[in-house]
Amino acid sequence: MKPKLLTSKVISQQLEREIEAEIKKLRGSGREFKLVAIETGDDPGSSLYLSQQKKNAGRFGIGYQLEKFSDSVSQDEVLDFISESNADPGVSGIILQRPVCRNLDLGLLQNSISPVKDVEGVHAYNAGRLVSGDISLVPPTVSAVLALIELTGVDLKGKEAVVIGHSDIVGKPLVLSLLKSKTVLPTVTVCHIATRDLQSHTLRADILITAVGKPGLVTDNMVKPGSIVIDVGINRVVSSFGRDKAYKIVGDVDFERVSKICSFITPVPGGVGPVTSLMLIKNLVKCIKLQLNNNK
Ligand code: NAD
Repeated sequence: MKPKLLTSKVISQQLEREIEAEIKKLRGSGREFKLVAIETGDDPGSSLYLSQQKKNAGRFGIGYQLEKFSDSVSQDEVLDFISESNADPGVSGIILQRPVCRNLDLGLLQNSISPVKDVEGVHAYNAGRLVSGDISLVPPTVSAVLALIELTGVDLKGKEAVVIGHSDIVGKPLVLSLLKSKTVLPTVTVCHIATRDLQSHTLRADILITAVGKPGLVTDNMVKPGSIVIDVGINRVVSSFGRDKAYKIVGDVDFERVSKICSFITPVPGGVGPVTSLMLIKNLVKCIKLQLNNNK
């Protein structure tokens, strides 16, 4: 079976057009827009995300500020910066890059970001809205996965969806969003590090979504033939040893083997990741609208 590739290319153009049109309208308010990212410490995995954020903001004419703190930064220093950014009308959205340094309380910092500048949809207020069925400001990765599922055109109502991973930023909000979506509404199973016999769950899945961060976790003997496979994982692995070690990015799925039996699959790179970057800007647009409404 040759699967259909769910690549970002298929939906990026449409999304870009929508975002550009929205931003053009919002510029009528006479305001400039800026995305602020906060990095604490020096995590090598963060640099790719941060450079993508900057590139994407620039593409839509949105200002971008990276506030870099050393790993000796105190909780109060970060809190003060967030508080200033919350109060600054020139700042439209705030991202707290994960992981944060060990001495910092991630939850407390996330919840100190104004809910109307919370472009990642991680503040307890926005997470709570999701629990009560409002999917208007959810983590960008979740919107990206939903958009890619929609592309398949497959009616998943009542079918089996299995999500591997239960993080606050991907797995949990994804499960809630799948349950909310009228067009999708499958029966959802969540698997995680403590799940026994992962394969017994994944084999039932009409749609399998993995967000773990383990290359090769999902192999062909774990996938139901004809299913939809969405790979959120991003892993840097060595692609060639030798004098100059080279690296490549792969997902959690053994793409080579799994793509032979499923009906739709997202590649890594080029699948969920680039759509997520656009969904972040879409969230920024939603945040700007909320801020403008608050000021009326
Ligand atoms: P996380 O570390 O917070 O969560 C990992 C999850 O995987 C946990 O729920 C854990 O219980 C589960 N897990 C770990 N080992 C497992 C195993 N052997 N079997 C089953 N479950 C297992 O990670 P996260 O922030 O949710 O990110 C997950 C992956 O998705 C990472 O590779 C990350 O880089 C990637 N990611 C991609 C995007 C994107 O837009 N494409 C966005 C965010 C994260």
